[in-house]
This record gives sequence, structure tokens and C-alpha cells, in this order.
Amino acid sequence: MQVKLKFLGGAKTVTGSRYLLEIDHLKILVDCGLFQGMKEYRLRNWDKFPVDPAEIDLVILTHAHIDHTGYLPKLVKEGFAGPIYCTFPTMELTKILLMDSAKLQEEEAAYAQKKGYSKHEKPQPLYNREDAEKVIPLLQPIYMEREERINDQTSFTYFNAGHILGAAILKIKVKGENQEKKIVFSGDLGRYHDPILNPPVRLPFADILLMESTYGNRKQSNPKPEEELGRAIRETFRNGGVAVIPAFAVGRTQMILYYLHLLQQKGKIPDIPIYVDSPMAIDVTKMYKDFSSYHRICPVLEEEGCNPFLHKNLHYYQSQESSMSLNNLRGDAIIISASGMATGGRILHHLYHRLPNEQDSIIFVGYQAEGTRGRRILDGEETVRMYGIDVKVKAKVFYIEGLSAHADQDELIEWAEGFTSRPKKVFLIHGEKEAAEGLAVRLKEDLDWHPIIPEYLESFELFEGI
Ligand SMILES: [Zn+2]
Repeated sequence: MQVKLKFLGGAKTVTGSRYLLEIDHLKILVDCGLFQGMKEYRLRNWDKFPVDPAEIDLVILTHAHIDHTGYLPKLVKEGFAGPIYCTFPTMELTKILLMDSAKLQEEEAAYAQKKGYSKHEKPQPLYNREDAEKVIPLLQPIYMEREERINDQTSFTYFNAGHILGAAILKIKVKGENQEKKIVFSGDLGRYHDPILNPPVRLPFADILLMESTYGNRKQSNPKPEEELGRAIRETFRNGGVAVIPAFAVGRTQMILYYLHLLQQKGKIPDIPIYVDSPMAIDVTKMYKDFSSYHRICPVLEEEGCNPFLHKNLHYYQSQESSMSLNNLRGDAIIISASGMATGGRILHHLYHRLPNEQDSIIFVGYQAEGTRGRRILDGEETVRMYGIDVKVKAKVFYIEGLSAHADQDELIEWAEGFTSRPKKVFLIHGEKEAAEGLAVRLKEDLDWHPIIPEYLESFELFEGI
């Protein structure tokens, strides 16, 4: 039996996670993400897929984030028709996220055409909502920690990764004629002290390990992100401004709501209204009730006045009109909107209106990838381009560390220490070059591991004749 692995993305970058595993003639695609951020990466979404999608037998998703699922509509459009396995919450989140992604693609294409800034006469979206809908019947939900058989030789099991609701670590077991091999994909790993999600499960054994390295070279040395968030809100309040928080609809928004509720309960920030201006964040927040066994705040959801997602200061804004009405607010408010890196979504019109105001604040609560608008604002650029216009950055910009849904360097090491013996091969994925290199150094020093940092489209022979 022959087992091969090819890196179709997520190599030396945090986006476009797609890994092709070939077990004899069986072709498994682990994750099917969209490239985001720098143009050089985004253009890869338009390249011919490195393997004929019709030849792929199945897809296994680790979690619903678009950089792990956002290429699915295109894959299906190009001929993939197999099952797409995922956990139950991942299935529900993927439906929401793919429809949103398709809508963003359509809007971007329409906007480019209107403004004439595309070199194409009629710019086309990568995929549209109809394409995204075709993915949904292929999604097949699987329980955590229950072994799922693919064929006589191959099975897989999910374990909690603690990164977002339903995020999983994936173990694939391959039974050869003489030996059994385990291939572990860490997926994106969460924190060990997340207030909402349970910590990532540690696995004792892997022959091959693919480990994420988003924060591979950084420590989130902020034990009290809640306090810092409180300070940023109080400063904005004193300036008479509005605090705008770009936050991903999945996970980050709920964590921010949780902390803001705590801060208001303790009287550490004023009792000002909090607006969640993202239909997607609203849908996702509702899911926390349906999937209460996948997180740790379930008792709170039932208690009157204690629900961080439902209290008197909290307002959910669905419609476009209500969203626009927030532009008239002149102070004493917190607006949470998506996307988290300001690459699209309603956050754009909030930034467009708030960035030129000195009284207002932009509070970043998560990692800003290279090439995104969020990163440019955070890096202190004087203007950022939006809707084809250079917008001045006068608002105060905060960055609250420690709220990430990703394990930091110490936590990644802590997770790696869970392996009781050294994996035969370790690949560091899902991290920018410096991050992966930083983690490689630590793994070598602490555990005597010798990880490989793969290149885009690089292939490896994992096992031969097992
Ligand atoms: Zn993720």
C-alpha cells in the first residue's frame, strides 16, 4: 500500500488549507479552504485545481472557517460529487459561511464591474449562491470520538480541537497488510483556558502529524484580555466616541459578547448599548443553544439575566437599513460587525464612516493576516483603500491580544507534549513562514522533533509497502 500527501494550500500561509491524501487509489481531500489576504495567494483560487475534482473520493473537514471550507463550491462546480464529512456544528456553520462567502464573491464582482476597476469587462465571482447551495446536500455529519469507516483499510475519528464550535482534530487510520498507521491533522487548535470552548484533546500517538502553526512564533502574553478590552471601551467612552469591533461572526463575536457582558455586569464599562451588526453572527449565536454539549457555557444560557447572548443592552441588527442607521450614532455605543479582518461585509461601511473620526475607536480582537485591510490599519497606515477611495485613519486603533481562537506557541508545545512518542514525520502547516519556523525551533529544542515546513504543492511519500 502506498500513502502520499500533497500540500494544496495552507503551506507557509494561514489560508487555503487543502491537503490531498492518496491511499493507494483512494483520494481524500482534508479541508477545502479559500485563499485569502495577499493577491498572490488570492489568485490561486482561480488556478486550475491541482487534481481533477471529479477524481477526489471524499472531503473531510476539520472545521467550518472559510480558509478551510471556502473552496468547496468551486470544487463541486468543477466536478466533485463525493461526501463531505464534518462534525454536526461544522455542518451548520459551513452552510451559513458558504452562503455568506458566495454572497461576498457576487457583491465583489458586481462592485468591480460598477466601478470598472476590474480588468475584465464582466468580472465573474469565483462562485455564486447557487454553486454554494449545491455543496449542502453533500455534507455528512459525524459525531466526535466515533470511528468512521471509509473502506476496509481506512477510517477516521474526530476529537475536540477547541478552536470554534465543532472544530476537530482529525485522526486517519490506515491499515496496511502488515502495519497500521495513524495520520493526525491538528486542524486549528484552540486555547487551554477558553471561557467558552473546551480545551483541545491531546492524542498520544501519530506516525504522521500535520500541525498548525498560526501563532508558532508568538506568545499571547495577555492573561487578562477582558481588562484590556474594558480599558479600550472606557477610553472610547471618555472621548465621546463609538467603539467598532471587527470580529468574525463565528466564535470571536460570541467571545466578545461574553466578555462585554461580564464587564457590564461587574460595572467595569458603562451600560451602553452593544450592537451586533451581522446577520451571520446572529445566526451563529443562536447555534450555541442548539449545540450546548459542544461548549461549556450551557448552564448560563438558561439563567435569566446571565445569558451573555441575550440581555437588555444587546441589540441584534439584521436589516441593511438598521445597519446603515448605526452610522448616525455619535457616541456611547459598541458596534460588533464582520468580517474580522475587514476584508468584506458590513464592517466596511462602519470603518468607512468611523476611521476618519478622532473620537471613535477601532478595536481589533484577533489576528490580522498579511495583505488584509485590518493588517494595514493595525500597522498604522495613514489611509486605507475602501470602495475605491483612500480613507484617512484618524480613529484610535487598539489591538487586544489574547482573544485569539488559536493556541499560542506555549500552548502548541503543550499540545505536542501530549504525544507519548515522537511522530515519525511532523509537518508544520497553517502558519506564515516566520511562525512555522519559530515553532520548528521550539519543537526541536523542547521535544527533539525535526519538523518539515512544506512548500505549496510539495508532495511527500508517507508510507510505501505497509
Ligand atoms: Zn480556523
